Amino acid sequence: MEKLTVKDVDLKGKKVIMRVDFNVPLKDGKITDETRIKAALSTIEYVLEKGAKVILLSHLGRPKGEKKPEFSLKPVADRLNEILNSNVYFVDETRGEKVEKAVSELKDGEVLLIENTRFEKGETKNDPELAKYWASLADIHVNDAFGTAHRAHASNVGIAEYIPSVAGFLMKKEIEFLKKAVENPEKPYVVILGGAKVSDKIGVINNLLNNADRILIGGAMMFTFLKALGKKVGSSLVEEDKLDVAKEILDNAKAKGVEIVLPVDAVIAQKIEAGVEKKTVKMDDGISEGWMGLDIGPETVSLFKDKISDAKTIVWNGPMGVFEIDDFSEGTKEVAKAIAEVTKKGCTSIIGGGDSAAAAEKFGLANEFSHVSTGGGASLELLEGKELPGIASITEKKN
Ligand code: AMP
Repeated sequence: MEKLTVKDVDLKGKKVIMRVDFNVPLKDGKITDETRIKAALSTIEYVLEKGAKVILLSHLGRPKGEKKPEFSLKPVADRLNEILNSNVYFVDETRGEKVEKAVSELKDGEVLLIENTRFEKGETKNDPELAKYWASLADIHVNDAFGTAHRAHASNVGIAEYIPSVAGFLMKKEIEFLKKAVENPEKPYVVILGGAKVSDKIGVINNLLNNADRILIGGAMMFTFLKALGKKVGSSLVEEDKLDVAKEILDNAKAKGVEIVLPVDAVIAQKIEAGVEKKTVKMDDGISEGWMGLDIGPETVSLFKDKISDAKTIVWNGPMGVFEIDDFSEGTKEVAKAIAEVTKKGCTSIIGGGDSAAAAEKFGLANEFSHVSTGGGASLELLEGKELPGIASITEKKN
């Protein structure tokens, strides 16, 4: 079902309350990465150009319902004021007289950012009182915070009970790319999964068995699968209680005709540290006790490249190894490069947020993919086939 977007509503002279994702990293009160602020600009600028007044809502970090100064959005307001051509005001409250006065003084084309939504205990509980209060400040709600779409909070979901909620451009793009991959992927559809835990991704894998053609598995999670197949994995990270689940997934994949591609070699070391002795071993020979697999090996890189080369849709979630340490980053880098390569040939590639997005950034490849999702958890839940509350709450388009 298609959702209403900012383009479908009359914004002139309206008060627009917009949920954005300004959850930026801060160090000593300074923003260390402003990607998220930049990402929110296109929707904010569009709404301002249309002559609306904009009230911005965002969370920052996990203050757990308490007013903690280190989680204040003030630095974001200051930065936004520098970037935008419009006046940006900030109120260090989340509700009350100060907020209401600032809203009433706001002129068309001006911006007000109020304090961190998570300073309110009711935010993460989706408290209807709080949602109703925020809704009372405006005529329309714009939801542009895909990263929180898997959570039903007052500022993204609750508020939509009281005023119409429409999608911003970021949200629209996320839904378009991810829904297409879930519902109607162009084939061959290749999914590449890595990262630390199988348990985080069981739901996704099970759902992918219904429409993916191939699933390539790297990262620490590969060792749970390899162990389930009887390989020696030494001291690699294994989820012992998920060995049965891994076996079941492999059996289901076979029954459904989905190819699961597991690594044939690994880069191993005795410690997760830069500069330590490392070796490459074949998985048929196995890993000795005291050694652990920290990256996929060169033969696996070739194998994965081959399995990626004819893809028309790719979803990648989770690094192939401990990419944060250069000694163990080669597999992730080569896989990222292979995805970038096939994207040039017309494949739709989606990077599923979180660590894979950070890896793409680290290797300077972030602009080489069709879409880099801004929400790790939200994109995984969409791929699991779940309905996300923060998307369900956006008003549907009537044809
Ligand atoms: P996730 O959050 O599940 O995507 O996991 C990402 C983390 O998994 C990264 O910090 C990687 O360093 C880590 N990781 C990837 N491969 C391995 C491995 N073979 N052993 C230990 N940690 C790994």
